[in-house]
Amino acid sequence: MAQARNTMSLPDRYCVMGNPIAHSRSPRIHTLFAQLTGQALVYEAELVALDGFDAALRQLVQTGTRGMNVTVPFKLDAARLADSRSDRVLRAGAANTLVVDADGRVHADNTDGLGLVADIVRNAGVALAGQRVLLLGAGGAAAGALAPLIAQAPALLVVCNRTHAKAQELVAQHADLVEGSATQLLALKAGALEGPFDVVINATASSLQGAAIPVAGHLLRPGALAYDMMYGPAAQPFLQWAAQHGAQGRDGLGMLVEQAAEAFALWRGVRPPSQPVLAQLRSELDAH
Ligand code: NAP
Repeated sequence: MAQARNTMSLPDRYCVMGNPIAHSRSPRIHTLFAQLTGQALVYEAELVALDGFDAALRQLVQTGTRGMNVTVPFKLDAARLADSRSDRVLRAGAANTLVVDADGRVHADNTDGLGLVADIVRNAGVALAGQRVLLLGAGGAAAGALAPLIAQAPALLVVCNRTHAKAQELVAQHADLVEGSATQLLALKAGALEGPFDVVINATASSLQGAAIPVAGHLLRPGALAYDMMYGPAAQPFLQWAAQHGAQGRDGLGMLVEQAAEAFALWRGVRPPSQPVLAQLRSELDAH
């Protein structure tokens, strides 16, 4: 991937690569981060052809782009094509952040799970240590979340997915992280789940498809946190389900902002303030 970088004295360039991409709020978030931290950069959305990620990445690196966020459906390609990978990427097999060094070498990281944990623990004020946590889904988002969730030392962390084999595979890939710890990590089918859970995290695409909530409401402890990684109208059925079962619902907007803050810190070495940006995004979302 190494390419000569264009060294013209223009603001550093970053982008988000995806397909579709028009809906992405990442340009808005990173532009606000740049303003708040006084960093000179431009951040754009790049629509990438479904069979064109490799070529698009090479082109962006060659023309001097310093870093990329990567979204659906290219997170696996990003992990595969990078020159080096963080431990989080090696475990998840998916990357959402690419950092390009001065020689054009691409390092892959995954900040999705860090963003999720930051939003739950810091923004929502819900501790995960010693808690019973249910993670629904075993796709890229769930894979990225697992190691950061384990690092919070829950008492129990159950992965439940429609395709059970994928949950089993994900748990096997992370089993060494809980060896000798007080955390029990299990893959269970929906019918085998035994509540109550203190935290239920929906990392499935069921909300997007308008499908039924993938688990029974009685699994929620009263007052539990029920978290959907989706946000906006698509998250509403899950949030209503949470309220009907006496749980505290939360959507994934904070995760989106926090994963972006982690990426910004990797690129710029400066941690942006996420709270004012989350408040701004929330008011813009509510206005639509
Ligand atoms: P993915 O890799 O395509 O995985 C999709 C997951 O959803 C799989 O586990 C799949 O199960 C499950 N699923 C799909 N339809 C379902 C249904 N009708 N009932 C039950 N399970 C179903 O997608 P992803 O990248 O992990 O993303 C998952 C969600 O997280 C999306 O809604 C995405 O927008 C959101 N997300 C949010 C953020 C954020 O910053 N807020 C970041 C990343 C992702 P099978 O394995 O059985 O197919």
